[in-house]
Amino acid sequence: MRVSQTLFATVKETPADAEIVSHRLMLRAGLIRPLAAGLYTWLPLGMRVLRKVENIVREEMDAAGALEVFMPAIQPAELWRESGRWEKYGPELLRIRDRHERDFCFGPTHEEVITDLARREIRSYKQLPVNLYQIQTKFRDEVRPRFGVMRSREFIMKDAYSFDLSHEAHKSSYRRMHDAYCRIFERSGLDYRVVAADSGAIGGSRSHEFHVLADSGEDAIAFSSGSSFAANVELVPCPEPGETREPASREVEMVETPGVRSVDDLSTRLRIPVRRCLKTLLLEGRNGTPVAVCLRGDHDLNLVKAASLPDVAVPVAMASAEQVESAIACPPGSIGPVDLPLPVHADHAALGMSDFVCGANREGYHLHGVNWGRDLPEPESADLRNATQGDPSPDGSGPLSIARGIEVGHIFQLGEEYSRSMGSVVLDEQGRAVHLFMGCYGIGVTRVVAAAIEQNHDQRGIIWPAAIAPYHVALLPMNMHKSQRLREAVETVYRELCDAGIEVLLDDRRVRPGVMFADAELTGIPYRLVMSDRGLDAGGAEFRHRRDEESVEVGLEQIASTLRGRIAAESAAARPGGSA
Ligand code: ATP
Ligand code: MG
Repeated sequence: MRVSQTLFATVKETPADAEIVSHRLMLRAGLIRPLAAGLYTWLPLGMRVLRKVENIVREEMDAAGALEVFMPAIQPAELWRESGRWEKYGPELLRIRDRHERDFCFGPTHEEVITDLARREIRSYKQLPVNLYQIQTKFRDEVRPRFGVMRSREFIMKDAYSFDLSHEAHKSSYRRMHDAYCRIFERSGLDYRVVAADSGAIGGSRSHEFHVLADSGEDAIAFSSGSSFAANVELVPCPEPGETREPASREVEMVETPGVRSVDDLSTRLRIPVRRCLKTLLLEGRNGTPVAVCLRGDHDLNLVKAASLPDVAVPVAMASAEQVESAIACPPGSIGPVDLPLPVHADHAALGMSDFVCGANREGYHLHGVNWGRDLPEPESADLRNATQGDPSPDGSGPLSIARGIEVGHIFQLGEEYSRSMGSVVLDEQGRAVHLFMGCYGIGVTRVVAAAIEQNHDQRGIIWPAAIAPYHVALLPMNMHKSQRLREAVETVYRELCDAGIEVLLDDRRVRPGVMFADAELTGIPYRLVMSDRGLDAGGAEFRHRRDEESVEVGLEQIASTLRGRIAAESAAARPGGSA
């Protein structure tokens, strides 16, 4: 492709409202353009990347035995009423009415449609197992669409649905999808983790998320370096610490702390580590009275775990200012468990603290040197916090590391959930009607593109993993319009590369070399080949990878074979079905 013949739409300015690097780079490199909140047009360069991701996904789904279908994006409300999700799904579901006043929605996912298809088409065990997938547009009216295509309202998802006769067969279909997903993300050149996504985290989780590791990720993931254990931090159990509490060594002292609102303020003010401060949060109680929850200052409350406390209202919410005011006339920053006229729960780790600092229940004052059992009753303790860096892995394999991740895929054993609510049954070998076991498997195809950029960029722009790069090589001729000889040599090389199956973007614009270099780096094309009259005098061209600091000289005759070799080496792992 010649730059002059494509819609090459790079921009220098950093878009003001783009918060994360992939969003900025996708706009600057001319991959996407916004239409309205959470809606984007994919430009030709972006489209090439998107298609490559789609192709990898398609090849691996096919290799895993899944069959491609294409379902309508618009779905009748009746199906959603049957599954009970028309009411449950909430405002993320875009509801539409047609000219006959019939209700429809724009599909945010396709369980209802596929279950309806399955109950009509799959009648006998002989047709099983079957796995149907599509690559298609979804719409979710996200409360906060942001980060470009990372969290958009309209996006492309690959969704697959497996159908099996038994729980055992269901599990092996799930395993096959799990393995296919691993190959998809490996082939795409991404550093990812498979994360247990429900609380049955250890030993047979029913759901896994696939996360691309990147600092901008919305989820915190805990993983063990000693084993394959990985889970969303919110789902990691934090058992009672083994060590015993230090004995009390000081008397309680009331200290003045004007303006202190948080444990960080407190730690700075008193010059003590945050982990010596006790954090007291007031949650909405089940009977209207707030419930106090105490955590070590450096720990965060886990809302899912807090929901299992008997006196806490579900869904868990912080008590309102009025509720706090009527329970105890003190602002939240100065609340503590000593003489607090409310139920008190402590996290296991908070119970291990001694000589700690906590709010004095008096505005602008804290107590220093407080000890459980001496200055206040020993409270009930429970696992109430999120796991942190260095906590022991629940499988005993060593300390946990915490990293941020972007959820690019999610696989789920639904079991009989939809086949029961929507009545999808088949006849088994004995002729008995049994409910189908169903699994669902999603990949955010458009999100993968953004996630790949989050993980692969530098200050100059994108650095595409070879397998999903829009082009393999940028061919940059220096001042070609001034030299007939150079023009001819460039055309020859261009043709040779194209004939060798290498995807070349020839920058044939009449622009300064600096502009060409900057655009090649911004758009992240993995290889760059610079041709000039001076190079021709020496019989070659300058060649370098986007990550290299220095170029190397390549003889004109070796260009195609050198590039082919490099590209082949990089995509060695990139054969469908892992049959490299
Ligand atoms: P999230 O927690 O990020 O909202 P989800 O749990 O709602 O994701 P699923 O319903 O499991 O997502 O959808 C499957 C995949 O679709 C996700 O793993 C993600 O990659 C992608 N996805 C979901 N919502 C969006 C969105 N708003 N924009 C882009 N991709 C999305
Ligand atoms: Mg979501």
